[in-house]
Amino acid sequence: MKISGSSLGCSIHSDNHVHTNLCGHAKGEMEEYVQAAISKRLKRLVFLEHMEEGISAPGPSWLSESDFDYYFDEGERLQGKYQDIIEIGMGVECGYNPEYKETLKKRLAKRKWEHIGISCHFLKIENDVHHLNLLSKKSENVKRATELDTNILFSRYLDTLLEAITELDGSVLCHLDAAFRWVPGHILLDHHYQQIDFLLAQVAAKNMALEINTSGINIRNEPFPNSRILDLAIQHKMTFQLGSDAHQPSDVCNHFNLFS
Ligand SMILES: [Zn+2]
Ligand SMILES: [Zn+2]
Repeated sequence: MKISGSSLGCSIHSDNHVHTNLCGHAKGEMEEYVQAAISKRLKRLVFLEHMEEGISAPGPSWLSESDFDYYFDEGERLQGKYQDIIEIGMGVECGYNPEYKETLKKRLAKRKWEHIGISCHFLKIENDVHHLNLLSKKSENVKRATELDTNILFSRYLDTLLEAITELDGSVLCHLDAAFRWVPGHILLDHHYQQIDFLLAQVAAKNMALEINTSGINIRNEPFPNSRILDLAIQHKMTFQLGSDAHQPSDVCNHFNLFS
């Protein structure tokens, strides 16, 4: 696989999507991600930590408001300490929940974000206590997804993203086709691509970027989104941003060399 980053207009010197141990499911302190980025000669690193609201799940995998207070304090300290070496941005990956959109809007409005990434990690399933985690590798989540109709759920996921980009002031749409990535046999159908095409047109109209999330490459030998979606995005003249979605410092800017 070789995709020309220059033709997509995205910089391989900036990783726009990394997590930290603050979200509860990633390893490494913020400073360790900065040091990894420096050792890999990046010019810019943007933290994009998880914000979720009103999600019922076995263990939280996102930051509370007091976590975000610490995140910004530590981010500011690191910006000062490494100012001559690397640019550090403080962003958020906001998971959309239609029932809590007003709270999400308030939380987003409270702070100054470098990027507001829009994603949807959880869907509410009728008669279930917990939301369904669409991106989880855990066997219980994969099993639960397999028992449901992932074709219908993927359409619902895309509808949720459409609402999210309409309601929230996002700057980038994250890992578009990553939902159900661990569910065996899950494929996108033509009607999904039609929905995606419409969604991309709205994303482009809002001047939001589309993320090329390189974490897909280890999973399926293609980034999120896949090449068919990237072709649609190019037709919409979208802008692109690279993100590794690193959950450990060693994964910072993983596979960015494929885009040089
Ligand atoms: Zn995500
Ligand atoms: Zn992420």
